[in-house]
Amino acid sequence: MKCIICGKNEAYKHGMCSSCLADQIRLQSSKMEITVCPKCGALKINKKWYYNDTENVLKRQALGHINIDNGNVESINNLELSDDRIIINIDVNSKTLGMVNKTAEIDLKILKESCPVCNKVTGSYYEGIIQLRTFSTEFDSRLNDAKDLIVSYVRDLNRDNPNSFISRIENKREGIDIYLGRKEDAIKIDKLLNSMYFTSMKQTKSLAGRKDGKDIFRYTHLIRILDVTKGSILFDKKYYMVTSISANSIGIMDLDTQTTENITQKEFYRRNFNIIRKEPLIDKFIVISTDGGESQIMNSETYKIITVRQVFDSKEVSLYKYRDRYYSM
Ligand SMILES: [Zn+2]
Ligand SMILES: [Zn+2]
Repeated sequence: MKCIICGKNEAYKHGMCSSCLADQIRLQSSKMEITVCPKCGALKINKKWYYNDTENVLKRQALGHINIDNGNVESINNLELSDDRIIINIDVNSKTLGMVNKTAEIDLKILKESCPVCNKVTGSYYEGIIQLRTFSTEFDSRLNDAKDLIVSYVRDLNRDNPNSFISRIENKREGIDIYLGRKEDAIKIDKLLNSMYFTSMKQTKSLAGRKDGKDIFRYTHLIRILDVTKGSILFDKKYYMVTSISANSIGIMDLDTQTTENITQKEFYRRNFNIIRKEPLIDKFIVISTDGGESQIMNSETYKIITVRQVFDSKEVSLYKYRDRYYSM
């Protein structure tokens, strides 16, 4: 059966095609005004800024600008935004016709205004500073790795909270300073780095000014990463060689007695360790012979042959050197 109104399309409901049916719905729309941040796309409606889920915010707002005779909007299926209008597809529940699908237009005026978060970012606002340093105070590639980790971590935090951002990164001779928009993020970063590196942490706060009768503080988090590797030499009353390092503990070997011990971050920073040698000295040897618990080995570079009180099960070995003595680990 053809539509009773246009006579062209197939009838769909009440003898009408879907297009003629939609025309039966009388609808008024009023002009809408929204403010958009040109930098991040955040939306301001009635003085409140929305940073996430802006499409749903916009849909809810658009509904308030549509008025239907004898019916109400059941759901919004689709919303398209252009410079001067919103085209919205809705399901209307009409008192006389039942459910009818309809497309409506709303005149739109878009104002542009930088949002408070973008203002903070461009204004170099910060509440906290992460000072990345090494234990030895020398700049080290570990600091760049840690910085990259923090940058991507804060990017993740920013998805949940627009106030989580890095407003500045300063490379210094002795380390890297990272300026954070939120002081709470500095605490999260402490935890993250502590789980990845053998670190020590120190927090200080300083008065940055007063706002609304309250003191405003800025928080500085000094994070020191222990910059040693297997074979590095430490000194605390005695000489030690590092045998292993993880985020929680390091293994050290007493060079006199060749006994090893594991020490935690807490104990390490309580004691008075100094780094004597950071880059390990490693020599390669070829095992020539083994007899009675001893081995004769030849230095691969100098061809010098030495005897060590050790048995090896491979033909080539790498030994860690300190003060003309060799140690295997
Ligand atoms: Zn029709
Ligand atoms: Zn913005």
